[in-house]
Amino acid sequence: MKIKEIAQFLESIAPLSFQESYDNSGLITGNPESECVGIITSLDVTEEVVGEAIAMNCNLIVGHHPIIFKGLKKLNGKNYVERTIIKAIKNDIAIYAIHTNLDNVLQGVNHKIAEKLQLQNCKVLLPKEGTLKKLVTFVPQKNAEEVRNALFEARSGTVGNYDQCSYNVEGTGTFRALEGSDPYVGEIGKRHQENETRIEVIFPARLEQQVVNALKDSHPYEEVAYYLHSLTNTQDNVGSGLIGDLPVPITEKESLSILKKNFGLSVIRHTSFLNQPVHKIALCGGSGFFLLSTAIADGAQVYITGDVKYHEFFDADARILLADIGHYESEQFTIELLTEFLQEKFSNFAVQKTEINTNPVRYFS
Ligand SMILES: [Zn+2]
Ligand SMILES: [Zn+2]
Repeated sequence: MKIKEIAQFLESIAPLSFQESYDNSGLITGNPESECVGIITSLDVTEEVVGEAIAMNCNLIVGHHPIIFKGLKKLNGKNYVERTIIKAIKNDIAIYAIHTNLDNVLQGVNHKIAEKLQLQNCKVLLPKEGTLKKLVTFVPQKNAEEVRNALFEARSGTVGNYDQCSYNVEGTGTFRALEGSDPYVGEIGKRHQENETRIEVIFPARLEQQVVNALKDSHPYEEVAYYLHSLTNTQDNVGSGLIGDLPVPITEKESLSILKKNFGLSVIRHTSFLNQPVHKIALCGGSGFFLLSTAIADGAQVYITGDVKYHEFFDADARILLADIGHYESEQFTIELLTEFLQEKFSNFAVQKTEINTNPVRYFS
């Protein structure tokens, strides 16, 4: 199994196009053509984790946080990022980061947190924009069925639980073939009128190349008439944060106790209790303060995340119980999630969880 095949599998779960603009997910070091002999999963990739991979004879680390986040201009080992990269390259260790693209899929980072809280009816809290496009094309009527089929085969026209969705309307197209052309219909130098079908299909933006290729391969014209639209529609299962229902309402205190127990926490930073029952919980692993107002608007009684700053706690404003359980703590089960995905797909080599606690934050008690 080549490294690139593992990357392709991970991208089928969390496409790279779902990452945020500031992110750096994907293969960070390593040759995609190399054979993979073993995988280690982790939340962070540190020098220690690279050392662990070497010791365990694994040549691929699949981690959540990208070790290279901003640009690197020099590689001489003056900080932990440079040292980690140097160590990985020297020892032929590939590093793959699956970061905000995994945060942004319903079955990703947040799903695992929701599972630990037994949440039901889980939905994405803030669906991501810009993940859908629309293709409009004009095809001679007798060729319309063939082009539609090709577009469907390229996975366009799928909406929720429906596929082969398209909109079609008939009309007249005109064109004049000029010197040097080889027209499918009509004569050179004469304006031609053709009965055409206008076909419209929607598709995930990341499939643009394959959809356009399918169109061009199946369309009979020398110059294929088509255009693409970017849509602001969203997909229900792509976006940040998650909201779900508890099987039975609990008290606010109980919600924190469950967190403490299931996430192995020594302490939780939270706002004052509002003394109301909790039946809806919103959450976002990592730094999710930006979703607080969405969590309130969607009717959650508790919002769980990490990295909340002092002044941000005021923004809860007695409208929700805001709980900061820590960045690492909130995302710790991502290691388990990645291991499960990989183990299920690749049974022919070892997939192991890191045994190193990479949390740089410690609590003195
Ligand atoms: Zn994350
Ligand atoms: Zn994170």
